[in-house]
Amino acid sequence: MNVTRKGMLIVVSGPSGVGKGTVVHAFLERYQTARLSVSVTTRARREGEIEGVNYFFRTVPEFEKMIERGEFLEYMRVYGMNYYGTLRSHVFESMENGYDVVLEIDVNGAMRIKEVCPEAVLIFIAPPSMSDLKTRLYGRGTETDDVIERRYREAYVEMGYLRSYDYVVVNDVVDKAVDTMCHILDAERCRIARNEDLLNSIDEEIKKYD
Ligand code: 5GP
Repeated sequence: MNVTRKGMLIVVSGPSGVGKGTVVHAFLERYQTARLSVSVTTRARREGEIEGVNYFFRTVPEFEKMIERGEFLEYMRVYGMNYYGTLRSHVFESMENGYDVVLEIDVNGAMRIKEVCPEAVLIFIAPPSMSDLKTRLYGRGTETDDVIERRYREAYVEMGYLRSYDYVVVNDVVDKAVDTMCHILDAERCRIARNEDLLNSIDEEIKKYD
């Protein structure tokens, strides 16, 4: 039986500092059919970030032109100043080619995806505790204290969306969090609703014996 499978859309969110980038990258190394969707942003590039790998870095006017052309599946102005957006073409082409596409996006973007792609799998990466999150945010050392305080307040708001997700994965030990994500997606892949082609080909074979 040779059945081609359309990829899954996987949304991963979690508060800043929870280590979701680390979890997602370890997951991508392990889960061979998954690919990260590279977002477009207007925020300044951080040291070590690469164009087209971490983000596509664009100016505000460039981003607004892309909005007008309808190039985004969803986009948001996160933290009140920078735009972030998911490229529609990028996501759908990869899924059509059988790849599971991971969107590492904020809670508002995730809620928008849930509206436009109800079959998406929404995973929330949570810290073991809020005090642990604060320690991690200060430990990162890439932002000023003001930015950290704002992101910590934002984290409280983001945690309020937890119940709108399909799954919660606590990032205590990265390897365990990645294991859990792999289990979730292996199970999701077996859902009847995601296997229409397989079911049809089974039906065809059954008919031959009628
Ligand atoms: P950072 O500036 O630290 O890379 O990301 C800030 C926030 O923007 C994170 O919560 C990240 O998940 C979110 N983000 C990154 N790309 C997108 C996107 O394409 N859409 C939305 N809605 N959020 C995004």
